[in-house]
Amino acid sequence: MKLFEQQELVIYNSISKTKEKFKPINDGSIGMYVCGPTVYSNVHLGNCRTFLSFDLIFRYLKHLGFKVRYVRNITDAGHLENDADSGEDRIAKKARIEMVEPMEIVQRYTVDFHQTMSLFNALPPSIEPTATGHIIEQIEIIEKIILEGFAYIVNGSVYFDVHKFNETNSYGKLSGRNLEDMVANTRDLAAQSDKKNPQDFALWKKAEPEHIMRWPSPWSQGFPGWHLECTAMSTKYLGKQFDIHGGGMDLKFPHHECEIAQSEAALKTNPVNYWMHANMLTLNGKKMAKSTGNNILPHEIFSGINSILSKAFSPSVTKFFMYQANYRSILDFSNNALIASEKGFNKMMEAFKMLSEISISDECDFDPSAWKQSCYDAMNDDFNSPILIAQLFEAVKIINSAKEGNIKLDQNAITILQDTMQLFIFEVLGLQENLIINTTDDTKLEGAVAILIELRNQARINKDFATSDLIRDQLKVAGINLKDGKDGTSFSLN
Ligand SMILES: [Zn+2]
Repeated sequence: MKLFEQQELVIYNSISKTKEKFKPINDGSIGMYVCGPTVYSNVHLGNCRTFLSFDLIFRYLKHLGFKVRYVRNITDAGHLENDADSGEDRIAKKARIEMVEPMEIVQRYTVDFHQTMSLFNALPPSIEPTATGHIIEQIEIIEKIILEGFAYIVNGSVYFDVHKFNETNSYGKLSGRNLEDMVANTRDLAAQSDKKNPQDFALWKKAEPEHIMRWPSPWSQGFPGWHLECTAMSTKYLGKQFDIHGGGMDLKFPHHECEIAQSEAALKTNPVNYWMHANMLTLNGKKMAKSTGNNILPHEIFSGINSILSKAFSPSVTKFFMYQANYRSILDFSNNALIASEKGFNKMMEAFKMLSEISISDECDFDPSAWKQSCYDAMNDDFNSPILIAQLFEAVKIINSAKEGNIKLDQNAITILQDTMQLFIFEVLGLQENLIINTTDDTKLEGAVAILIELRNQARINKDFATSDLIRDQLKVAGINLKDGKDGTSFSLN
C-alpha cells in the first residue's frame, strides 16, 4: 500500500478559495506546472521563496509515493517590461544595455538561477522547457484560438478577444474579477490603439524593426505573448488537463487568468484542477521586487555582505526561516528573524544528533506513533510547514527531557524519532547541516583570512592577546574557525 493511500492530503485551491481533498487525474501520478523565472537578472530572495515553496510540495508528493512530473519553465522571450503587452522585452533590453546577445543574458541568469537553487538544495524539476524552444507549439495554439473565433489579427499582431470569450466562458474566475469592473476601471484607451478593447491581450506581437528577438509566423516576423508560453509548454508535457499549477501570488492576474482563457478557447478544457499560489516575501514591509530595488540576493545572505545583515546565514537557515511561515502567508524578512531561525535550526539539529546518546529504557513516557502521524497531519493539511516544524520542536523537547533523565524512551520510540526526524528534516524540508557557503572567489577569501591570521600572529608576538582573541572570536562569528597547529594556523568554514 502506497503512503498516499494512507495519508489524506488536502490542498488549498486558489480558484475555489477552499481546501479540497486532493485527487489526481491518474491514480498515483501527478502533473505539476510551476511558472519559472524570467532570466534577465539575478534571482532575488522573494523569487526564491516561491520556488522553495514548490520544492517542498514536490518533495512531499514524491515522499507520499506519487510519480510526479514537475515542469518548471524558463522564460527567455516574450516577457515585456509592462505586463500589459507594452514596453521592451526584458531580456532584449538588458542585452541592448550591455551590448551582448540576448542569449548571453539568458545563459548567465539561467546559470545563476540553477546555482542558487542548488545551494538551497532544491531538487531540479523533471522538465525545464524554455519559451524560445517552443515557438512552433505557441503558433499552433494561436491558430486554434483564431479558428475558434476568440482572437483577431491587427497589423501583424494577434490579440485574444476577452469580451468575445466572456460571452460563453467566464473571464476572471481565478482572480475573482469580472469584466464589467475591469472595463469600468480602465481609463487609458488611446494608448492601446491596436486592441479592440484594453482588456484583450497579445498572443503574437509583430516585431518593431529594432526588436531583435523575432521568429517567423503566419502573421508577421515577431514574438509570442508572455502568457502563451505556459499554455503551450504545460499542454505539451502534461496534457490538456493536469493536476497542479503553481506560481507566485502576483501571477494570478493577468498571467494565470489568461492561461485559463487560452486553454478554454483553444482546447475546450479547463486546464488545471488545483491552482496553488505562494505568497510574497517582504522587506521593510514592502514586496521584494527587482524593479523597485527593494530586494536582497541569496549570495548577500550567504556571505553576510549587505548592510541590513549582522552576519552570514547558511542556505538551510534561510530556507528554515521561510518554512516557518505557511507558503500562503506574507513573510517579512529581517536580520532578527534570521538570527531567531538560526537558533531554532541549531537547536533542532543538536537534538537530532543527541538521539544516539540517549540511554534506552524498557519503559516509555512518549507515544512516538501519534507524534509521527502529527507530522504527516501537518503536511497533509495543505503542506503546513510551520506546524510540521512545531511538531519537530515537540520532539526536540522530548529528546532534551530524556537526555536530562526526566522522561524515559524505549528503543522503539528512539527509532521512530530518529527515522521520522531524518525524513522530515532532510528529505521533506530538504535542509542540510549548517554549512556557510562561500559564494565569493575562494582565493580572495583565503587571501583575506591569511591577512587576518598574520595580524593575529603579530598581536600575539606583541603579547596583545585582547586583539588576537578578538580576531579569532569575530572570525568564528562569521563562520570561520581558526585552528592552531605545529605548522601554523589553518582555517575551516562551519
Ligand atoms: Zn507562467
